[in-house]
Amino acid sequence: MKAVIRNSECTELGDVPEPLRPSGWVRLRVLLAAICRTDVQAATGLLPLGGTRVLGHEVVGEVVESDPTSSHRPGDRVAVALPLIPCGDCKACADGTRCAHRLMLGVDIDGAFAEQVVVPEASLCAVPADLPLARAACVEPIAAMSAVLGAPIRPEERGLVLGSGRISDLTTRVLRARGFSDVETAPALGLGLAGDEVAHGYYDFVIEAAGTDEALDLALRSVRPGGVVVLKSRPAVPLTLDVTRAVRNDVTLAAVSYNVLDDVVRLAGELEMDDLLGPVYPLERFDEALAASLDQPLGSKIFLAPDRAW
Ligand SMILES: [Zn+2]
Ligand SMILES: [Zn+2]
Repeated sequence: MKAVIRNSECTELGDVPEPLRPSGWVRLRVLLAAICRTDVQAATGLLPLGGTRVLGHEVVGEVVESDPTSSHRPGDRVAVALPLIPCGDCKACADGTRCAHRLMLGVDIDGAFAEQVVVPEASLCAVPADLPLARAACVEPIAAMSAVLGAPIRPEERGLVLGSGRISDLTTRVLRARGFSDVETAPALGLGLAGDEVAHGYYDFVIEAAGTDEALDLALRSVRPGGVVVLKSRPAVPLTLDVTRAVRNDVTLAAVSYNVLDDVVRLAGELEMDDLLGPVYPLERFDEALAASLDQPLGSKIFLAPDRAW
């Protein structure tokens, strides 16, 4: 099958064998995959993969093959909601508690920029056939942004989302959909943040969604003493944290990754997000799609479709 592969030197379209399906996993025919910042970091070599890998983890597909006991039947439409996959080998996995070695689809194991992908059943959500594919492919980013709801923050509090473009926009919209009415987004120019325009010591919680030292520093300055800084970015390199400032102000740091809400698929249908959905490229033009994502890392979402004539 065709797949977008990152090897030790470059990212290219290759021919690879169809993936094997372990029991408990589901084989999907990929209908549409979305490009995430993580994919761009992997494709450019900024995020090392430790081997040759098919990229991509934001995907909607049609079930081709599943276990007879699976709730996802061939022909069903499903989307990946949780791309972090338990290793299956450790004591925590045997005990059914949270695995400390979860594997990221499209980073640690082969992903979805391909004609087919295999995914554990537990990573998938059923999606209705009338949900537009671009929205269905965004179930994973919505689940990722919904992770902030798992932090110790409350709807009546005053919040700030630090970041720009679709990531902070989507986070803010998820919060508003859940009743957070007093949430602002920091003004930003490109990846630089307009720190002087943000009130210091003012917010009950600040969500750091930019992944830069400046944003983390600004988060610690703008949160009130005793407030909460929610860490939501996944920068490819470690950031610097002003521990003294955090300690002096009794700031709670809450790092969150995913929160697969019961209604994540409903949110994908209802959230105002048409303005965040960008163009679809055929898999063959992955290089243009990646270049567009690299050029506009915070711009609208760009998609890859393996199986459609363009
Ligand atoms: Zn993603
Ligand atoms: Zn494990």
